[in-house]
Formats: sequence, structure tokens, C-alpha cells
Amino acid sequence: AKHLGTHGVQLHDPSMTDRRAADAQLGEDLAGAVERGELTVLYQPLVDLTDGRPIGVEALVRWQHPTHGTVSPARFIPIAERNGSISALGLWVLREACAQVVEWGADTYVSVNLSPRQLQEPTLLQDVLAVLAATGLPPARLVLEITESALVDDAAGITMLAAFREHGIRVAIDDFGTGYSSLHYLTRLPVDILKIDRSFVAELNGTPEGAGITEAILRLSHALHLTTVAEGIETTEQATELQLLGCGIGQGYLFAQPLPAGDVLTLLSHPSPP
Ligand code: C2E
Ligand code: CA
Ligand code: CA
Ligand code: CA
Repeated sequence: AKHLGTHGVQLHDPSMTDRRAADAQLGEDLAGAVERGELTVLYQPLVDLTDGRPIGVEALVRWQHPTHGTVSPARFIPIAERNGSISALGLWVLREACAQVVEWGADTYVSVNLSPRQLQEPTLLQDVLAVLAATGLPPARLVLEITESALVDDAAGITMLAAFREHGIRVAIDDFGTGYSSLHYLTRLPVDILKIDRSFVAELNGTPEGAGITEAILRLSHALHLTTVAEGIETTEQATELQLLGCGIGQGYLFAQPLPAGDVLTLLSHPSPP
């Protein structure tokens, strides 16, 4: 094995080779996964923090691998990004999610994750518009989520986001606060929604220190007239503190896990409290 100095990285470490081979195999398996019906989309409710009412859902893809069982998107999305299949996969999720929301018939919106790679696809805008036209979902009921780090230095990507917004599709910055963009830079981004990363929500513990970053993001968001969504809410204390800090929308296991489409409809059609 080759030692690469102080970082302890070993280029030819056998476990690294195994990992690469496993990734390559998963990538090949993924190529036929849609046709074999192994992919599904789960929906996690986004709730109004003032009354707990679901107002939207985030679409999260799942892969049921024939031999490995459930493979996490945290594992296979990066593989799909590397082998180039992410654009087709991402469009499949988008189509599924838009069709599903139309089928529910409830007045709700769907938030779909976009990989940075997809944003570089020149045909992305026309592909997204084609999905809306085919499914009949009004653009106002679609949100596209993109991570902050993906946008730094991607002028074409930013132009693409602006084009989405011109067509009435809203844009959310995912995992906000974990990237490297300067605050000044944020004022120039064509976005509607900031999603506070769950690492900051996890720090909410009733102390001013714990709330520091969340509070700063909410103040910034308010100044820029953006909507804020907090992700990863697991306790009622976190939900209460977020509401007190002025966060409008929340998402997390406290309210619901990502759910199969059939289970969401029951939540959405539940009569809202007075
Ligand atoms: P993300 O976009 O940040 O999605 C939120 C993740 O947090 C989801 O993990 C969700 O299940 C999880 N989560 C929700 N509430 C809680 C909570 O209260 N506590 C904790 N600890 N976790 C919570 P999931 O579904 O495993 O997805 C992981 C990531 O994979 C996503 O992170 C997203 O980056 C990516 N991903 C998932 N589906 C897609 C997709 O269709 N396209 C793309 N490009 N990426 C996707
Ligand atoms: Ca997301
Ligand atoms: Ca997120
Ligand atoms: Ca996150």
C-alpha cells in the first residue's frame, strides 16, 4: 500500500479497491433498476409549524436492491452522479413525484431534489417543463431543491435557477449553512426558500448558543423575503423553539418519516384544525 503522507490515505488499500468495485457493480445494477421496478419514491410531509398541518412533501428516492436490500440514496446518488445516470434517475423521480401529487388531488406542493450534475444539463429546463405538461402539475406546486455548495461558481446553474423561477417553479437551497457561499453571494441567488440543515436544528437546546446559527439564518432569510424550512426536527422542543424564532415550515421524524404515497394521502386529507 502507498502511504500518502500525513492524511493517512492509502491509494491502493484493498478495502478502497473493494469499495470501488462494489460501487461500479452498484452503478451497473442501478442502470436497470427503474425497469425492474426496484426504485420507489417516498414522501416526507412538510408542515406548517404554527399548527402542524402538512402543506407539502419532499420526494425521497429509495432503492430495493434484489440482493443487498434497501440501499440508501446517500450511497447510490453519488454513484449515479459519477457514472452519469443521475439525469435519467432524477427525471424519473420528478415524473413519479409530479404524477403522484396530481393523483392525490390535494392542494399541496412537492419538493424534488436536483443533483448539481442535473443542473449542468442544458436540456434540464425543457425536460422539467415537459414533465409538468405531461403530468398536469401546475408549476406553482413544484419546488426544486439544490444544495448551496453546488451553486458556488456555477454561473450556468444560477441562470438555470432563474429560468425555473420565470416559469413559476420555486427554488430551495438545501442544507443551507453547510456550504461556503458568502452572505453577499446569497443576495444574488435566484431562490425562494432556504432549508436549514438538520445539523443546526440538532443544536437547538433552549440556549442562545445552541440557537445561534439557526437564528442568524432566520434573520437573514426574513431580510431577503425568503421562506425558511427547518429539516430534521425530532423533538417538540426543537419545533417550539423554531416557531418562536420565526421559522414557518418544518420537516422531521417528529411529524412523519418519509412515507409511501398511500400513507401520505390520509395525512393530507385529514381535516385541518380550526
Ligand atoms: P436531504 O435532501 O437532505 O433529505 C433529507 C434526509 O434527512 C432524508 O434522508 C430524510 O429521510 C432524512 N430525515 C428526515 N427527517 C429526519 C429527522 O428528523 N432526523 C434525521 N436524522 N433524518 C431525517 P434520505 O431519504 O436517506 O436521503 C438522503 C439524501 O439523499 C437526501 O438528503 C438527498 O441529498 C439525497 N436524495 C434523496 N432522494 C434524492 C433524489 O431523488 N435526487 C437526488 N439528487 N438526491 C436525493
Ligand atoms: Ca432535500
Ligand atoms: Ca436537506
Ligand atoms: Ca441535510
